[in-house]
Amino acid sequence: MSTVVIVGAGQAGYQVAASLRDKGYPGRVVLVGNEPGIPYQRPPLSKAYLTGALADTRLALRPMTFYAKHDIELVAGHAVGIDRECHRLRLADGRELEYGHLVLATGTRNRELSVPGAQLDGVLGLRTKADADRIRRRLGTARDIVVIGGGFIGLEFAASAAKLGLTVTVVEVADRVMRRAVSPVVSQHYEALHERHGNRVVRGVPVAGLHGTQHVTAVELADGTVLLAGVVVVGIGVVPNTELAAEAGLAVDNGVVVDTHMSTSDPDISAIGDCAAYPSRHTGRHVRLESVQNAVDHARCLAARLTGTAEPYTSLPWFWSEQFDARLQIAGISDGYDNAVVRGDPAEGAFSVFCFRGERLVAVESVNRVPDHMAARRLLEAGRSLRPADVVDSFDLRSYAAAS
Ligand code: ADP
Repeated sequence: MSTVVIVGAGQAGYQVAASLRDKGYPGRVVLVGNEPGIPYQRPPLSKAYLTGALADTRLALRPMTFYAKHDIELVAGHAVGIDRECHRLRLADGRELEYGHLVLATGTRNRELSVPGAQLDGVLGLRTKADADRIRRRLGTARDIVVIGGGFIGLEFAASAAKLGLTVTVVEVADRVMRRAVSPVVSQHYEALHERHGNRVVRGVPVAGLHGTQHVTAVELADGTVLLAGVVVVGIGVVPNTELAAEAGLAVDNGVVVDTHMSTSDPDISAIGDCAAYPSRHTGRHVRLESVQNAVDHARCLAARLTGTAEPYTSLPWFWSEQFDARLQIAGISDGYDNAVVRGDPAEGAFSVFCFRGERLVAVESVNRVPDHMAARRLLEAGRSLRPADVVDSFDLRSYAAAS
């Protein structure tokens, strides 16, 4: 049995190694990572880990002993090149690893802010454990905190900071927060929620620049507003790490392009997780998603293929975000919807938004409505819809979904 070399020891990389062993793969499994320590969970970094509610030791996906027990070799290194002809992966320190199958699970990196002053001390991103540790150290003495970007990361950080007794100003360039991911009703709910907890949300204004000599002192907006800032957290989205694939001549288009089996155009190289652009059964086009579900399900699909039980990837995407006491869960992908119907009551803090394209349900966004979310997943997985007119509180969604 040939060696599987996995580049990237995040959620997807870890999961493919674990699933290969789970399915009895007898060959060598090598997991190459360029972050210190063993693979860990990222979602708590902006939530419980940041507030101190989750200890360092509980961040790991599995304890160190797991890797020895399952004969998964952890290699600390940064991959810089792929020799497809010789089936070799080159690391920055000159080492080379021979592979039978290569898995790219390289993830994403933070998109950088491109305004004057973006390189000042105190301007921080939040994606890795090292980033979270850096932010935690600064929060101890922080006064004025500005978050640039009102997406999931920026808002989760802002909620955590508020929990620690700090107040934050969130600057979002779009006309509403989380615009990329949710409908206006949900955006408005979260804007109001942050404001109720003392945070401020400034929308629709670009950042002109950051002030300071060595350390950041203020953020200036394009309308001339100056916000004092001792710490600036930037969460303006990510870019996929596709350089390795591109340099090896593999197709890249907002992610490493793969087929429904997570294979690149080279049958000996696959790509999974946040870095992979795959053909979605649910949207009918290639998508690149950033979520734990996506990483785990891609990895399982690939491990099944490498152990002889190939099935095309069909999993339904779902996402979640936690801010204050509001748990947002999203089932499906809402882009292209033309009708959004609300069930429940936003004023009471528990509601769902059913997004339809024509008569077809494409996504459901739920806030503190776990049963709606679970029912929506069942329906969307089964490719079933309901009529927009049925989205009323009295409709027995659970029984309807159970019949799928
Ligand atoms: P992340 O996972 O990093 O939170 P998202 O794409 O969910 O990524 O959110 C990023 C948010 O940042 C979006 O709401 C986007 O409109 C916003 N944004 C992007 N560029 C800027 C910018 N220069 N200033 C302020 N907000 C920005």
